[in-house]
Amino acid sequence: MNHSESLQKLRAKANKLVKRGLDQHVKLAVTGLSKSGKTAFITSLIHHLTNPQSQMPFFSLQQQERFIAGKLVGQDDLSVATFDYASALSDLQAGQWPQSTNRLNTLRLNLKYKPSSGLRAHLTDVATLTIDIFDYPGEWLLDLPMLNESFLDWNNRQYALLNHAPRKVHSEAFLAKLNQLDCLAEVDYGQLKKMALEYRDLLLLFKNQCQLTELQPGRLIMPGDLEDAPITLFFPVKHIDHQTLATAPENSVLATLQKRFEQYKKDVVKTFYSNFFGGFDRQIILVDLLGALDKGREALVEQSEVLKSLLKHFDYGKSNFLSRLFSPKIDKILFAANKVDHLSAEHHKDLALLLNNLIIDAQNELNYQGVTVETMAISSVKATKQVKVTEHGEVLNCIFGKSIESEQLLTYLPAQPPMRLLPKTQWPDNGFSFPSFYPLLSAQNTLEHIRLDHAVEYLIGDKVL
Ligand code: GDP
Repeated sequence: MNHSESLQKLRAKANKLVKRGLDQHVKLAVTGLSKSGKTAFITSLIHHLTNPQSQMPFFSLQQQERFIAGKLVGQDDLSVATFDYASALSDLQAGQWPQSTNRLNTLRLNLKYKPSSGLRAHLTDVATLTIDIFDYPGEWLLDLPMLNESFLDWNNRQYALLNHAPRKVHSEAFLAKLNQLDCLAEVDYGQLKKMALEYRDLLLLFKNQCQLTELQPGRLIMPGDLEDAPITLFFPVKHIDHQTLATAPENSVLATLQKRFEQYKKDVVKTFYSNFFGGFDRQIILVDLLGALDKGREALVEQSEVLKSLLKHFDYGKSNFLSRLFSPKIDKILFAANKVDHLSAEHHKDLALLLNNLIIDAQNELNYQGVTVETMAISSVKATKQVKVTEHGEVLNCIFGKSIESEQLLTYLPAQPPMRLLPKTQWPDNGFSFPSFYPLLSAQNTLEHIRLDHAVEYLIGDKVL
């Protein structure tokens, strides 16, 4: 090789290195309680980001015609399950909602684009943004307070909860069994498992029938890869004191429960935070406010408590114990009230206002600390069309779609949601009702959305300048 050839090679190598240095990487986490719409959101996000022709007018790459292509590529972290995009998309394209998320999933997407400004635009025509999408159940975040509790505190608090309304009416049979249980006797693993599964069924009932959200341990009801693992199989027993716990024999029921509790905190809760949560850059939290409104005022109050407790994860003040555990780096959070296509367009802003109203105090605190929090009302996959119906000379803004409940095409006049949490006295007597619909496809077989492009712009717009 002569001198000029090797110089050329060196230059090409340097150029490649500079380009690589200009490429960006973002870890985008998607969460929300079960059925909040995570699976539909991720599927729609990928569908639109891998199709430069799709309708995303508010996304700067599309608006400024700088979007070149998006492609799914092999994920980096081989220990995490892959989000099954192909089957979720084919379900949606067949007019069905896909299977919901119940574990941690990931996917990697490369976005190629024309840089618009700065050094990047000067040095290269094509830049790449690598997006690692992580999808995890919001229920896992609700275990966070356990990290601050001893087994004794946790046990006595949970036992007290079981003994009070609204849980008590459902807990009677389980409480009677706890009364019979000799906690200091030698453990019978089979019986322990049976009782843990009964406790799980109780938690599931609290969740599904009562819309309660203080459901610990979270992995007992949303196990991910820990289905049946003894580490998740523990439950609270009758009120205990320090003396009893300290003198419990090593092979007793009580000592076994305590051991599982401590190991759960260390190996499950802490590990999730340090291995995954700590590495996320951006977070979207999907919220099914319409579902809560539909269930009644108590469910909405509970929803607002959950949102506030979720926000604690992003409070990186010095006194926060998450910051003492590791250094989290999420700097932008989006709270999205999902499924806004259940409302007529004129009421979309009311849903956004309601969400804003529920989290405003915590939001101000975080904005002050440098974490940006935004709220929006979106629909990742539209299931309805807006139609106008004239009745007695009055034009009504209705929605139209195929109802899941009746399997019939339905034209429906949705109620206006409240813009804030109404006091009991102002809550409408008949409550709110929002029927569910099957997903809708455009004539070109593409998924339609509402403001998904606003969400995308907020979450990654600054990474593709
Ligand atoms: P996940 O449990 O958080 O993964 O939630 P899914 O994505 O499975 O969504 C749960 C259900 O919510 C779906 O089966 C749909 O009925 C509904 N859903 C999700 N996204 C939308 C949306 O954008 N619009 C409407 N109308 N319904 C949605």
